[in-house]
Amino acid sequence: MVEQKPLYRLLERLVDIPSESGDETALGDFLFEWMKENALSPERQKTRDGRFNVLGRLTGSLRSESPKCLLLAGHMDTVSAGKDWERDPFCLEMTDEGFASGLGVADMKGGIACILWIAKKLMDDACPFAGTVELAFFVDEERYSIGAHDYVLSPVKHCPDFAILAEPHFHEIIVGAPGKVLLELVCEGKTGHASRPSEGINAIEIASEMMHFLNRDMAAAGDGDRGSYSALNIITNIDNYSLSIPDYCKVILNKQLVPGEKLEDFLKNIEEVFEQKVGRGSLSIKRGLPEYPGHKVEENNPFLKSLVREIADFGLPAPTLRNNDGVSDANILQSFLGIPTVLFGPKGSRYHTRDERIDLGSMDMYIDILDSYIRNVLK
Ligand SMILES: [Zn+2]
Repeated sequence: MVEQKPLYRLLERLVDIPSESGDETALGDFLFEWMKENALSPERQKTRDGRFNVLGRLTGSLRSESPKCLLLAGHMDTVSAGKDWERDPFCLEMTDEGFASGLGVADMKGGIACILWIAKKLMDDACPFAGTVELAFFVDEERYSIGAHDYVLSPVKHCPDFAILAEPHFHEIIVGAPGKVLLELVCEGKTGHASRPSEGINAIEIASEMMHFLNRDMAAAGDGDRGSYSALNIITNIDNYSLSIPDYCKVILNKQLVPGEKLEDFLKNIEEVFEQKVGRGSLSIKRGLPEYPGHKVEENNPFLKSLVREIADFGLPAPTLRNNDGVSDANILQSFLGIPTVLFGPKGSRYHTRDERIDLGSMDMYIDILDSYIRNVLK
């Protein structure tokens, strides 16, 4: 049991409900009920696989000529605890340096607790802003972002002008990220007796030639303008020993995308290499999940500038604005709906490890900063 402060008790409750990716229902039900009790207009938004995101809304009580919409969002799922944890990962434990530890406490149940608390504060104060604050809690961020994908595919009531995902970045604001796409490159050849290879087209050989020429012509490690790529697996249609020339070979390829890089350009390069250098058999390319295009928020975005100013007004050091190494739901929100999206939340550390923890003091500060930000930016 942590301190009796209501915010920390809420966090304790969130950690107490397991919500590994794929199994977020119990946490979704809890959030729905909590939001209902606090008049935050919750709804369950079904996803393609029968799970649901939880959405909510606050409507400001002030008038404005051009009301704006701000989205505060996060993901309900956590990674799995695995065998790493030496104690109960679902029991929030206070550590002596003002941190609390538990599975998902930083990534990102601390952020969810803060969003709920900010919404409650605004509601208790009769929503002293103009426009709308939307709330969204997604499933599946730690895997394929199915929650965020289905959110952007659904008809949008008020497309937010700006979004903040309360991921555990406190002294920095993440304004961009590379993307990544899983590709299936299917090479088809011509079968025949393997003792007479010249009579067929060996699909394994044309696939390996394609990869060889691709690596020769393009830097696999990427450069400033291009992200890296890497073959992860190859699959053929031959299971057992057989003296047949394989006529099918699929290369599973992970492609990283730097912000601004177009996947179509990379696909065109592969097709050209295949046509000009391999020159036999056929190639087809399929895009699969995960698919996260890169994203980047402009530094002069007015919502971002106001956020930086708000943080400074609290006497904190100016946050660093930087691009993330990995992907998040921000890639989906910004690329598919055009919502400038940043990651900014209470301070967490060691997430995805057994020492995952959150700085409790940063939760209080975060709530005060965003509460004031919303009142100032939505006018
Ligand atoms: Zn996260």
